[in-house]
Formats: sequence, structure tokens, C-alpha cells
Amino acid sequence: MIDSTVQMSELDAHTFRDWSARASGPVLVPVGALEQHGPHLPMGTDAILSTAIATSVAQRTGGLVAQPFTYGYKSQQKSGGGNHLPGTTSLDAATLIGLTRSVTVSLLRQGIRRVVFVNGHYENYQFLYEGIDLALDDLGIGSGDERSVLLLSYWDYVSGDTLGLVYPDGFPGWAIEHGGVLETSLMLHLKPSLVDLERAVQHAAASLPRFDRLPVVPDRTPASGCLSAPAGSDPDKGRLLFDQVVEDLAADIRSEFGLGAVNPARGA
Ligand code: ZN
Ligand code: MN
Repeated sequence: MIDSTVQMSELDAHTFRDWSARASGPVLVPVGALEQHGPHLPMGTDAILSTAIATSVAQRTGGLVAQPFTYGYKSQQKSGGGNHLPGTTSLDAATLIGLTRSVTVSLLRQGIRRVVFVNGHYENYQFLYEGIDLALDDLGIGSGDERSVLLLSYWDYVSGDTLGLVYPDGFPGWAIEHGGVLETSLMLHLKPSLVDLERAVQHAAASLPRFDRLPVVPDRTPASGCLSAPAGSDPDKGRLLFDQVVEDLAADIRSEFGLGAVNPARGA
């Protein structure tokens, strides 16, 4: 007997079929990017974090985790440093919309009733929304249907109390958190072997104009590639962020879908 995994990719299809016939928990789809995150974090950071969060949430909601989206929409200068930076390898919007639409249709068509997209890359959000909306159109799903999809970015679950503890000198805003204290602390908690704080560059938060200019003016992105410095990052902040986000997101999903309490130890 295989350990009770929550990863769809690790389950055999018959076990999955039986799960989907009886389960009320959701299928969670983690979404990230392949994007430079400065000299101290790996380029897969956004998908690593959304997958870790989705996995813990699945264990608390009786859900499963689908294969993550490991590419994302183009990095934008004001939120990810810019798509011109080496390593950043992106999808155009039509591709991300199409991918989201296909995966959503495919899950709902095989009898999955509840899907949750857990986004970890700022620029993806509206294209995920569009792909989900087109998928529901494809399937003729309207208001009142028991099949539904939730979409969220995980940082929107960070509470005011947590923000006060993680950013004692004031919160700079999510858009410029790229490679900063949130992502670095979470990675130090979850994947410390992939973080090299000795290579981190300390600099003032980027000051970017209110407009987007295309093509970008590369010098407006700090040389590190980060939009704020990871100064003050530590694994304890990462654990606090992770535990609070997972707990509140799992509670939201249980409440929205009318699920009972799930024993995390038992998983799906
Ligand atoms: Zn990131
Ligand atoms: Mn990103």
C-alpha cells in the first residue's frame, strides 16, 4: 500500500477515479513561473511556493494537488524585474489562457466538481481568470451549478498581524516583494538548501514610475533583479507566513465548499 500522497501525479488512475467518485475535497492547481529572483533564490521560486502551499492545503481539505504550471506570464518590470532578464522564460497571454482553459475543462469533464488555482506569480492572475471563465463557457456551466472554480494569489492570505511581525519597519507592498522578505523567508523555511543568503544584495526598494514603458528601460530594475532586498528574512518568518496562509486558505475552502473538518494526518 502506497503512502497516502496528495499529488495526483503520484496516484494511479484507478485510485484517483475512486477518490473523485466519493471525495468532496478540491483539486488544487499550483501556478508559478520560471523567473529570475536575484542571486540568492532559484528561478522556480513561484511554483515551489505555490506547490508547497497547495500541498498543505490539500491535506487539510481532503483535496489533491494537480501538476503545477511551472511557466507563467511575462515578468513585468514593476512586479518581477522585467521579461528582459536572463533566466526569465515566459508564456504569452494567449498560451497561459489556453493552458488554463484546457486543464480546467479536462478536470471538470472527468467529474471533478471543485477546482482551486493557487497562484504564486503576480503577473498570471488575470489570464488564469480568463482561462477559467472560457472553460466554464465551454462546458455550459452557469450560476448555481455545483461545479465551480476558485482562484487566488497566496499572498492575499497574509493577515495584517502576520504583516506586522514580518515587516516591523513597514510593508513595502506586494508588487515589489519580488525576491524580498516574503519569498526569501518562505524559501528558507521550505527549501533552505536552495537559498544562498550570502549572495543576497542589500539595496533600497526599487522606485518605479506609475506607468509601464515598452520596451522597458533596463536600468530601472535594480542590478540584483530583486525589487526589494531580502534583509531581515529568516526561516521563522517563513514558518509563520506559511502556517498562517495555509490555515486561513484551508478554512476558506472548507467554508466555501461546505466541507467538514479534515484530519491533516490522514490526507486525501
Ligand atoms: Zn516570485
Ligand atoms: Mn513571479
